[in-house]
Order: sequence, then structure tokens, then C-alpha cells
Amino acid sequence: MRYAETGYDLEVDLTTGNIERVESDPELTLKHIGGNGVAAKIIWDRVSPETDAFSPDNLLVVSAGLMAGTPVPTANRTLFCTISPVTNYFSNSIMGGYFAPELKYAGYDRIIFRGKADKLVYLYINNDVVELRDASHLAGLGAQATAYKLKDELGDMRVQVAAIGQAGENRVYYASVEHSNASASRGVGVIMGDKRLKAIAVRGTKDLRVAHPEECFNVCLKHSQDIGTSPLNGDLMAIEWNDAFHHDNFAWGNSRVRQRGYWSQALEDRWKDYTLSIRDRLQGCFNCPKNCHLIVKPPGYNRYAVKCYGKGVWHMAAFKEIEFSFDAMAVSQELGFDTYAASQTIAYALELYDEGILTDDDLPDFPEDSADRFFYMMDIIAHRKGIGDIFADGMWRAAKAIGKGAENFEHNCIKKFEQLPLKLGKINYTYYLMYCCSDKMAINQAEGSYPQDATSDPADRQKFVDEWISAPERFKKFYMEWEPRTNPTYEAAMNIADWNEIMHYMDDSTGLCAFCSSFRGQFGGGTAYHIYNVPYFLKLTHGMEIDAEDLWRALRRNRNLVRAINVSRGLRREDERPPEDHWAVREPENEERIIMDYYEFKGWTSDGIPSKDTLVGLGLDYVADEFIKRGILTGNETEGKFVELPLYTEGMSREATTMVRKADEYTLTERLKTEKYEGKDF
Ligand code: SF4
Repeated sequence: MRYAETGYDLEVDLTTGNIERVESDPELTLKHIGGNGVAAKIIWDRVSPETDAFSPDNLLVVSAGLMAGTPVPTANRTLFCTISPVTNYFSNSIMGGYFAPELKYAGYDRIIFRGKADKLVYLYINNDVVELRDASHLAGLGAQATAYKLKDELGDMRVQVAAIGQAGENRVYYASVEHSNASASRGVGVIMGDKRLKAIAVRGTKDLRVAHPEECFNVCLKHSQDIGTSPLNGDLMAIEWNDAFHHDNFAWGNSRVRQRGYWSQALEDRWKDYTLSIRDRLQGCFNCPKNCHLIVKPPGYNRYAVKCYGKGVWHMAAFKEIEFSFDAMAVSQELGFDTYAASQTIAYALELYDEGILTDDDLPDFPEDSADRFFYMMDIIAHRKGIGDIFADGMWRAAKAIGKGAENFEHNCIKKFEQLPLKLGKINYTYYLMYCCSDKMAINQAEGSYPQDATSDPADRQKFVDEWISAPERFKKFYMEWEPRTNPTYEAAMNIADWNEIMHYMDDSTGLCAFCSSFRGQFGGGTAYHIYNVPYFLKLTHGMEIDAEDLWRALRRNRNLVRAINVSRGLRREDERPPEDHWAVREPENEERIIMDYYEFKGWTSDGIPSKDTLVGLGLDYVADEFIKRGILTGNETEGKFVELPLYTEGMSREATTMVRKADEYTLTERLKTEKYEGKDF
């Protein structure tokens, strides 16, 4: 009997149309948990390093997080994993909403797509009925329009649809997969388009078993109530009116201009009034008591859900105000763009035009107003019209194709992928390591479990660490020693960078929402999920008996397996650089030293390759063998020694780590009495 998972994958060959229901290996779950971990193992086994992202042999693995669909609140994430053409490396994008639970209820943990269809199709799943169906009538439709049309045709509004828009159909490199109030970005929608897969529509009505049903239900009910009343969980961006942090600190345009002091009370009042005037309601994801998603209906556009920081990126890229972002999101989500990458790429195009590198010959009838210019660019990029064809391949490739100095304005990519716009002062060691060495495509996939700034008052710091339940002791010490506006020590920076990213691997494998877990650890006490209590939820749902150390080890295994995929595809030290123009003040010598120290800390060689010692230490012997066979390692390297890193439970016995904070000992709501959030409208 399998618990929390169905034990079955769907293998879909888009070339032949063959579909098989295949039992999965339960050992894979114990080793890799689920989500991106199991997907990485599948891609390691079946996609050779020589396989091009656009090859029919590339896989698209749509993988539910292990706890998705169980009573565990906020466990609803779907992982889209593939080799992305943007980087030529492994990409995983985590998506909220309702898709993964529905897939589980239909009887499947994963869908593994291979091959390419010869015409546009969609996959229809209704429990045991699984069919590839003609989607030619959906060609050219937007992502949301596709979802509604399919629900209508299928006569069931409860069907969950993940679809691409025109950008995905036309293989725009930064196309997204759109689903309800969520989306999967970071270079995965392009693979759906390349495989001629317009949508996946799933409906499931089967049971999903959990290992300890009564205890699971009781604990999760209380946990859900706690999360629901906690201001320390959920995505504040949907309901927080003061957004001075992003507007005063992030760069505008193509990562060039900071507008410190931009925010004001008058602006906040005006933007709040406008947002409320178009707000329909707030909406949460599956089995979540929070309502993080604004449902809006701007004048002249269809109703849609605002997703994460899409609310800010468009108007900041265009130097406009919030009305523009709401209009831009309506268009971009329908076309199916990754909002971070698309807004940056278009801002880049506008900059090239202003500099005379692009002319009216390149952009005929180019409008005067920047808002109109953004809509113009979205249209020509999504449909690959004219020079839009070049920009559809992303900023890094567009710079190379255009030449004429365009390369000098491309300054915000890492490993060929456009980043969130930032231009800050002095280099930050922790972020330097995360930008350079993370195998995720964007910084927001790696940050969040540790505060971004120190507070000056030691008493405040002490209070913070006293309540910080998610952090191992070592991080509390680092935080206490950290003075504002200074870098943490090398040792602290390495530990923090490593911890930040591996906490995301926890969410990416379990299917928990980062806004109640990895991304919220930075705000201190009250995070719903952390390394110490997730093993308990895994036991209640799946039945696995592991402690925090075991979980940590599995996540390190996943992280190194993803690294190994990328290394086998050519990733080396020279590729690990932050966006060129990110910090005004750089420290070349320290940068080189800290990155070397970090590789050693990770158990990697000085070229960033996981050593044989590390791979074997993490149970990835087969990766070490393959690396030696391919000449990537000799197997005799003396650098990159495997370090057990038992640091996460220092001062605690191994048994103690299994003593999680059960719901009755763990009342998030108590914080409401003392927090600054008291009385706020959540
Ligand atoms: S906290 Fe917000 S983003 Fe996370 S699952 Fe709940 S509604 Fe979705």
C-alpha cells in the first residue's frame, strides 16, 4: 500500500500517441521525496547530456509534490521539470493552484512527456480515461481562454487546466505554463510548445490514502487554522498596500535606475483605491486558508488572478504606475509570458531603441508612449513577428543577434536568463553565492529562509532569534553577530546561501507552498513549515520515518543531482557569475576566494563539480561512475571532500529532531497579540 502518493506515473509519448500507466519505484520516494527530486532522477536516467532541449528525447516531467493532495495545508504544488533551452540546464518551476492535487486524485503522481506531436494536442485525464486529443481549435488562443474553452467543452468547471498561450505555442524561450491563480515560469512553457502540447486537463475523483489518517486530519485541521490567522504566512503582496521596499530598492527599466524615495503615502492611497476599484475578490490555492491572489477585472480586460510580484514588474520596467501593471498582466498572462523575464526583455528592447541601436526600420510604427510600446513588443514577441523573433529567444541571445553594441546593454542575465531588476550598492556575499552557484534559474527560487538585513538593536535581534523556530542554532548565532550594512562572515554567508537554497528543495520535493515555508523563514518565528516539523508531516502522510537530518540529507542529494545534470551538460566555474551590473562596488579578490571556499563547503571541486567523495557520500554513486566514465572526474580528486554537515542539529540529539512541534504546542495565532500586524485586514 502506498500512502500520500498513488504509486503510478503516466508515460505519454507525444510522437506515437502511446500512453502507459506505470508503477513507480517506492525507493525513489524515500531517496528523493517527490516533486523535483524524483523528476531530476528521471531526467538524469533518461535524458543524455547530448540531448538538445528541443529534441524529442527531452522530457517534460510534470510532477506533484509528495504531500500534494493530502490534508496537509498548502501542500498543492506542481513541479514542471525539463531541460530548458534558455540555459541548456535543468529547470524546475513550482506552481501553486489546484493542479497537483487533482492529478493525484485522478490516480497519478507524475506525467512524463516525451517525443513531439505532429499537430497541436492536449492531454485529457479523467481518472482512468487518459487521451491525447486534437487541439487545433485551441491554436492561437490565450492560456486562460484555453482553460475556459476546455472546461466548457468538457462540461465540467472542476477540470483543472494547465495551458500555454501564444508565447508557448511559438516557442518563446520565456513562455510560461498558466493555471488558474498560478503559473510555471523559468523556461518550461517553451517545451510544452515545442512538443505541440497546448494543455493538460485533469479531473480526478479517487481517494488518496495517508498513513495515519486520524492524527493527520486532526493535526492538519489545527495547523490550517493557525496558518489562516497568521500574518507570517502567505504572500503579503496580495494584500499589503505599502510596497516601498520594492519600489524604492529595486531598479526600474532595464535594471538601470533606482528611484529611492519614490514611495509616498499619497501614492499608496491612490494605488490602493485603484486596486480596490478593480478587485473582485481574494482567492487561495488548494487546501490553503490564505487568500494570496487578487482576482481583478481591469477596465477593458477579462477577469484574472494576479500572480506574485507581477503586480510590480511591469510598471517598473515601463516607468509607469500600477494601472499599467494590471493591464499588462491581463495581456501577458493570456499570451503566457514569464513576467519577470518578459518585462526585462522588453525594457531592454526599449533601451536599445532609445540608444539608436534599434531604429524605426526594426520597429515600424513604434508607439510614442512606453505603455503602448510594451503592448507592441508583447505582441511581436509572442507571435515572433519581425524583430520580435529575435527577442523571443531572450535578452542574452537577442544581444548577440543584434550586435552593434547591444551586448553592452545586456547586463542582467545569469546563465543566459533574465533576472529580477536590481542595482544595489556594495556586493553582498550571501547573495553573490546564491546568484552565482544556485542551479535554479532565478534568485527568488533560492532566497528566503534568512533575513536580508540585520537589525541594529541587539535586543531586537535577540527577540528575533528567540522566536525563530525554523532556524538551526548556528543561524541564530550568525544573526546575533551580524551588524547592519556589513557582510556576514564568509562562514556565515556560505551556510546561509546553502541553507536558503536547500530549504527551497524541501518545498520543491514535498509540494509545500514557499510562502508558508522557505520564503517566509526570513521573517522569523511562525513559519508553518520548516526542517524540524516537515518530517512529522511526511510521517503522517507518507508514513516514512525520518528525522530532520535524514530529510536534510535527501534534499542535499536532490540538490547535488540537479548540479550533476548541469555539470554533465557543461556547467563549470566560469559560468558562475552574478549579473554584471548588479552591485556598484565589487570585490574581485574576495569574490574568487569566497566562491572557492563555497565549492569546498559544498564538497565540489574548484571547477564546481561535485566530487566523487561527495557523490558517494550522498548515495549518488552512479553519478560518480558516469562522471569518471565521461572524464568529468578522475575519481582521484583530493578537493571537494564530503562533509556530513551535521550542523543543522548541533546541540540536539538525533532523537530530539524527530520531536516536532505538534499543532497543540505550536500556535501561530499567539503572535497576533504582539505583532505589528495586529488589527490589520488580512
Ligand atoms: S499561502 Fe498563498 S500562495 Fe501559498 S498556497 Fe496559500 S494561497 Fe497559495
